[in-house]
Amino acid sequence: MTSRTVDEALGAAVFFKCENFQRTGSFKFRGALNAVSSLEPESRARGVIAFSSGNHAQAVALAARLLGTDATIVMPTDAPASKMAATLGYGARVVTYDRYRENREDIARRLADERGATVIPPFDHPAVIAGQGTAAAELIGEAGSLDALFVCLGGGGLLSGSALAAKALSPGCKVYGVEPAAGNDGQLSFRQGSIVRIEVPTTIADGAQTQALGQHTFDIIRRDVADIFTASDAELIDCMRFFVTRMKIVVEPTGCLGFAGARGLGRSLAGRRVGIIISGGNVDDRRLTDLFDV
Ligand SMILES: *Cc1c(COP(=O)(O)O)cnc(C)c1O
Repeated sequence: MTSRTVDEALGAAVFFKCENFQRTGSFKFRGALNAVSSLEPESRARGVIAFSSGNHAQAVALAARLLGTDATIVMPTDAPASKMAATLGYGARVVTYDRYRENREDIARRLADERGATVIPPFDHPAVIAGQGTAAAELIGEAGSLDALFVCLGGGGLLSGSALAAKALSPGCKVYGVEPAAGNDGQLSFRQGSIVRIEVPTTIADGAQTQALGQHTFDIIRRDVADIFTASDAELIDCMRFFVTRMKIVVEPTGCLGFAGARGLGRSLAGRRVGIIISGGNVDDRRLTDLFDV
């Protein structure tokens, strides 16, 4: 999508890649589908496991269903009912755990051992990274070469995949990650040259509350990303409001990070061709109106 208002505000030609329209409502479906379809047929037949209460759960559930295998999703007992219902709706089995007393990775590992199923991680896996990179590949394929590309950053699957795609298809394009100001572990890691781990950050960007980049994602980001910026919750709400009122699209708080980062640079992007990845649109109606009320 494009917006004349955004082009005028930034003095740039801006192209939005709208993964809020992707199946399951976020780009996570790309990595999940690529990872599940990359498994050898025998291991694929034994099923897949994910531990997540967010977009990755729904993505793995749908990928497994489309590829004819079983998905088990490990979720905390207090996960939002809407997320649990969506995951069950895609045909996955949901196993719940007490987040204060049990460790989800131990549970997933035990299920994997019992059944021979494969854990599909949310970001730190080559097939997941490659899948996530197809969003930027499609954007460049359609919009043409770019001078800059802004990408939402959590654990770095989307950013590292985007950086690889841009390097191959639009050499010279500067790729920027944008993460919540409350949890800038990616920015600290990038500047310091080693992975920094933080406490779970308090932010409305629930898809980017990761505590640390992965080893694969960090290595690619360090090599191929130009810089990492941050955005405050207030800036994210402002972007959500802009998307709804001006572009008529619903974007979840985390999905606004890329646009917030580009807006933060203002006129320094003038004259450039700029890509922005909108990473997802999963926000329930009640939360949307609550956020607009503050
Ligand atoms: C997972 C997610 C992100 C962060 O992606 P990473 O690959 O973990 O960096 C951003 N936006 C949305 C909507 C997500 O679901």
